[in-house]
Amino acid sequence: MAALPNHARVVVIGAGIVGNSLVHHLARLGWRDIVLLEKGTLPSPGGSTGHASNFIYITDHSKEMTALTFDSVRQYQELGVFTQTGGIEVARTEARMQELTRRITSSKAWGVEPVELISRERVKELVPFINEQIILGGFHTPGVGVVDSLQAGTLMRQAAQQLGALTIAAGVEVTGIDVERGRVSRVRTDHGDIEAEVVVIAAGIWSPRMAKMAGT
Ligand SMILES: Cc1cc2nc3c(=O)[nH]c(=O)nc-3n(C[C@H](O)[C@H](O)[C@H](O)COP(=O)(O)OP(=O)(O)OC[C@H]3O[C@@H](n4cnc5c(N)ncnc54)[C@H](O)[C@@H]3O)c2cc1C
Repeated sequence: MAALPNHARVVVIGAGIVGNSLVHHLARLGWRDIVLLEKGTLPSPGGSTGHASNFIYITDHSKEMTALTFDSVRQYQELGVFTQTGGIEVARTEARMQELTRRITSSKAWGVEPVELISRERVKELVPFINEQIILGGFHTPGVGVVDSLQAGTLMRQAAQQLGALTIAAGVEVTGIDVERGRVSRVRTDHGDIEAEVVVIAAGIWSPRMAKMAGT
């Protein structure tokens, strides 16, 4: 690995889907001097992103989350890493069936269409190997699918590099974050320190540990 820079405008910690997406967006917005630190090896550093089944259901109970997911799908399609498969969430209880009914209403109100509530017989038709005796029905969304999230991350990092915006340092573990007069000033790693104006913690389940390093 090349030597770490001494200074960065922004250090992003973690090359999971969140860190990768962030460096991509910052670079497209004109940010330069971005450093991405990842303790694992790329392209599969070992966090949640490499373990996900990568399925994307669009409609959530929150309108904002739905809008975010909808836009994520658009971005994955743009990158060519999205496979539209359609998906069914099944209900085994009346309560769950009612929840799915409410989500149909939300979907229609928020423009996620087509969606349909389907009977157990229709679920069986679409997924012949299911035991339909243990379900009541399902919520069918033809527009959902799976994403290759590791390939997405690779393409996002490459795009930021092509803009001359990004230095990637894999195999580098963050060990500390210095704060001076209430502002972050430096990221400490096992390969040296980087003075930073902005630090973004995108370390997934490790994020609380990182935040503690910065005293928050
Ligand atoms: C089994 C499983 C199945 C899933 N299925 C789905 C699904 O079907 N659909 C869906 O939408 N979501 C799914 N998820 C959730 C999804 O994978 C996560 O929400 C998402 O990957 C989180 O991304 P992230 O970038 O926040 O974190 P991560 O991918 O965990 O990235 C954090 C990165 O930070 C790095 N890091 C941590 N500490 C340090 C340090 N000190 N120094 C440097 N780097 C550090 C880690 O090595 C890691 O690469 C699933 C998750 C799992 C585990």
